[in-house]
Amino acid sequence: MTAARGPLPRRIVVAGHGIAGLTAAGALREAGFDGELTLVGDEPHAPYSRPALSKALLGGADPGAHTLPPGEHGARELRGVRVTALDPVRRRVALDDGASLPYDALVLATGARARRLSPGGGEWTLRGLDDALALRRALAARPSVLVVGGGVLGMEIASGALAAGCAVTLVSYGPPLRARLGPHLAGVLVRAARAWGLRLVETAARARLDAGRVRLADGTAHAADLVVSAVGDVPHTEWLAGTGLTADDGSVPVDAHGLARPGIAAVGDLAALPAPGGHRRVPLWNSAVDQALTAAHALLHGLSAPPLARPYFWTEQFGRGLKVAGPLPPAGEPEYVAGGPGGGPALLRWPRSGTAAALDHRLAVPRLRRLAAGGA
Ligand SMILES: Cc1cc2nc3c(=O)[nH]c(=O)nc-3n(C[C@H](O)[C@H](O)[C@H](O)COP(=O)(O)OP(=O)(O)OC[C@H]3O[C@@H](n4cnc5c(N)ncnc54)[C@H](O)[C@@H]3O)c2cc1C
Repeated sequence: MTAARGPLPRRIVVAGHGIAGLTAAGALREAGFDGELTLVGDEPHAPYSRPALSKALLGGADPGAHTLPPGEHGARELRGVRVTALDPVRRRVALDDGASLPYDALVLATGARARRLSPGGGEWTLRGLDDALALRRALAARPSVLVVGGGVLGMEIASGALAAGCAVTLVSYGPPLRARLGPHLAGVLVRAARAWGLRLVETAARARLDAGRVRLADGTAHAADLVVSAVGDVPHTEWLAGTGLTADDGSVPVDAHGLARPGIAAVGDLAALPAPGGHRRVPLWNSAVDQALTAAHALLHGLSAPPLARPYFWTEQFGRGLKVAGPLPPAGEPEYVAGGPGGGPALLRWPRSGTAAALDHRLAVPRLRRLAAGGA
């Protein structure tokens, strides 16, 4: 895919005002775009940090811990407005208030929503600020909590619920965190979870929600005052129906510069990046930022944009803090750069996969990335 090298765009629309859309708006200005920039998002809130919702906010910190500084992009911001359709031939985006916006270049950044266990209700999910504030209020009454999903988000929710004083059971399809983090790091966090009092139930097949009860493959059923599911996400791309931009899973495949077509970039959780054997979404905060920086540059200046940086991810749960740079799950056995296998603070490296991790260990992200790449 190559960027259009014609005249510079004069009107750019950014659809979605999460971190990917906000970063793209700022990066377009920094890359020299001084035309008409419009940022459209369906949430009424000022910019906020989604990762903080399941960490600081749920863990009981100051309810403002998630706020982000206002952007300096000078875009016309349409908040509480949804994009409903795209006509790539006429180059127009339709809005739910009946208006339509013309564009010369477009950034798709409408992210993803929580996947649900059942269409029939009966479960809580955590994706946006409103979800987090409601869940925080509900946890204050110390209900019994059943979390379905042994991924990073499910474990963070369980950690927050335990911190709020709830009795918490977590149902995990396979060992918690292992598919994502590998056995070593998953083992450290699961030990911390058990020490905090988390009750873990492993299931060999995906759990179902049926009349308020979570049913497992072995025939058992589990219930609690509050069922929270954290079973993945679904790209928010229904509004792109008929454009040919989406793959079967709803993601938008892009090239290494974040372009889906000349003049149309897709960034953040909805974008599927080139990967060995096909395209893959990388639904991570820093990846959304990196993709937006690269794609904004490519939209304006073509393919001189820098390549995407090594993926970076972090989590806080059960009193432990973990930062990881490089591919996950890491391959092979880790080497200890600092600390040791006793489970305390450590700096680790997996040379085979080019992954490095800092466990309760202060290290700047660029240094962690260098360590992952084999540097000091
Ligand atoms: C609770 C939680 C914790 C997380 N923790 C971490 C973490 O610790 N580390 C990490 O790396 N990543 C974490 N993530 C993932 C990270 O937050 C996402 O990768 C990142 O927010 C993606 O940004 P985005 O802008 O692509 O999508 P989003 O943040 O989803 O933003 C998309 C925006 O577009 C809006 N939108 C959707 N459809 C429309 C429409 N039709 N019209 C207009 N607007 C629309 C949405 O409402 C939303 O505001 C976490 C995610 C969640 C939910």
